[in-house]
Amino acid sequence: MRSFLTCAALACVFLSISFAQTTQPVTSSEQSPPQLDHFDASKVDKSVDPCTDFYAYACNRWVKDNPLPPEEVFWGSFGKLQLWNEALLHQTAVEVAAKPPAARTPVEQKVGDYWTACTDEKQRNAAALDTLRPDLDRIDHMSSKSEIVDIIATIHRSIYGAWNPTDTETAAALFGFGAQPDFHNANQVIPQFDQGGMGMPGRDFYLNDDAKSVEIRTKYAAHIEKMFVLSGVPAAKAHDDSQVVLRMETAMAQGSMDVVKRRDPKNLDHEMSLDDVKKLTPDFDFGRYLELVNAPSSSKFIVTSPEFFHAVQQLIASEPLDHWKAYLKSQLLTGTAPEMSADFVNANFQFYGQTLFGAKALLPLWRRCIQAEDRDIGQALGQAYVARAFPPENKQRAQEMVKNIEAALSSDIDSMDWMSLDTKKQAHIKLAAQIDKIGYPDHWRDYSALEIRSDNHLENVHRAAAFEFHRQLAKIGKPLDRREWNMTPPTVNAYEDPQTNTINFPAGILQPPFFDPTTDDSVNYGAAGTVIGHETIHGFDDQGRKFDEHGDLRDWWTAADAQAYEKRGDCIADEYTEFVAEAGVKQNGRLTQGENTADNGGIHLALSALQSDLKSKGESLDTQGEDGLTALQRFFLGYADIWCSNLRPEMMRTLLLMNPHPLDKYRVNNVVSNMPEFAKAFGCHKGQAMVRENACRVW
Ligand SMILES: [Zn+2]
Repeated sequence: MRSFLTCAALACVFLSISFAQTTQPVTSSEQSPPQLDHFDASKVDKSVDPCTDFYAYACNRWVKDNPLPPEEVFWGSFGKLQLWNEALLHQTAVEVAAKPPAARTPVEQKVGDYWTACTDEKQRNAAALDTLRPDLDRIDHMSSKSEIVDIIATIHRSIYGAWNPTDTETAAALFGFGAQPDFHNANQVIPQFDQGGMGMPGRDFYLNDDAKSVEIRTKYAAHIEKMFVLSGVPAAKAHDDSQVVLRMETAMAQGSMDVVKRRDPKNLDHEMSLDDVKKLTPDFDFGRYLELVNAPSSSKFIVTSPEFFHAVQQLIASEPLDHWKAYLKSQLLTGTAPEMSADFVNANFQFYGQTLFGAKALLPLWRRCIQAEDRDIGQALGQAYVARAFPPENKQRAQEMVKNIEAALSSDIDSMDWMSLDTKKQAHIKLAAQIDKIGYPDHWRDYSALEIRSDNHLENVHRAAAFEFHRQLAKIGKPLDRREWNMTPPTVNAYEDPQTNTINFPAGILQPPFFDPTTDDSVNYGAAGTVIGHETIHGFDDQGRKFDEHGDLRDWWTAADAQAYEKRGDCIADEYTEFVAEAGVKQNGRLTQGENTADNGGIHLALSALQSDLKSKGESLDTQGEDGLTALQRFFLGYADIWCSNLRPEMMRTLLLMNPHPLDKYRVNNVVSNMPEFAKAFGCHKGQAMVRENACRVW
């Protein structure tokens, strides 16, 4: 989403990326959900010693048996389950769309009509560019740079919440604007200006000078050129304008804060009055912008990176009006392309799908439409998913696991020999205040003010974006709603949000092989349990620990404890910093530090919760199951299983540069090699690869 609340800002367990797709017909054979994976211990690769390479031992056969489908760039448990979830949503959409209008509920009207319009390729091919034309014309008719404000306000309203190829902070046109809890009083929501403006995933893509980066930039400029040509700009001008856009975005990249620096919330904490904001970029009338987007008034604003707004000022002052027209048009076109006609969709796929991520084929139309519908009216579409796939007993069992894992963290805090009693007391207060959300919202979002029609997909997307932008801005000046969800129910992901002090597990991830009611606790704790532990630890990772129980940015650590924490964090950061030959780039242990801390800490919590659970039933981690494996072995295999995956090299490179999560192989091998419990489970000894000499441990 073009939102601040992305996996870059929230601590997710997995970064899902989707890109444009398209032109295959919707056939009936696609309506039955695929088979989900279930745990099967016999699938290990016995030719590999688990103590040498546990990922290979657990995943080799899966990797071989599950080659990447041509339309996928990542294929593993997350992707398979996502496909299964989408197939259920697809059934719902098709059924509802086929109902006579009079027989539909208001929610069904929106779900059905959105589907009908999105899948009507004939209409999209005929009318999409016409729908966009008035906005393109307004840009062409600009007579002064003072009108940049008007166009940016329009783009923010019409493609906010719309497609974002990379889920990073670079995507909003020129800059991002939204609502966010005050860093110093999280109960109060205030407006935030964030860096943005770029069409590629991050500043490194503009500034690195290795051959691959240069090649990607050339292809990006060609992509912008193609967008211009498709919109009717003459070829020579389209070429020149694409170079202008690349140059302007490069200047924005130079003014941007890098991903690692952005991980420290203290670096984003710049509170300003509107007058201060105006001084950063005097040639952009922020007062007028706020009026145009209808933002409630506020005495203070967060500006995440003031340097970026200086760069914007430079650009407005130095670039001629014609260059700004090119930039604004490119933002409008690239932000809308996946929702348009087949020529735009295909061109968009060539750059974002193939060049950046390595996909070999477009996703079928039905999946693109389900993903768009989930993004735009996800809490309407998701209601049927919950009814079909998430019975109350699953919610209750997941709730119990969360409670057991939180209890494990409570004991863990007490057992830490490097923390003082004072800091432990504060940590307990924070943990006790953490809110758990499981499955789906208590109250479904009210979409009654959003008009969805069956006759024009792009108009639906624009209205949905405006609805979402307005909904976000309406939070300004109001108390924080900690019960709100930032993911839809069918999402295969989970997140922790330090400012609401919540952990959130959508129904979409509480399915096999993560959470499987048909298998035993040891496997469920190894899979879903480690995901729950992961999110719980995020509240106490190197970012999360800087927020208190209310979600305020406040240092509750004694100086000595903070120092001890940093030292342990350095061990983790160093351990994950490694050159990945297949991708030609380095994995950055500083970028992935929070996720690594969460993985390593989360698995300890899950294991300890499992141990208590087994004890209460008179069993132990050594109890053998029918397959001859101990509960402890099944736990570790259950863990590895959720990370078995295939990945395209292009995707791998893009992830390594931008994604705060490490590659899956490291999520398994680095984690288990830090754990004496793993060595015990598989009889590994010192000197073997999965027994790390300098094992790291934070939580
Ligand atoms: Zn995470």
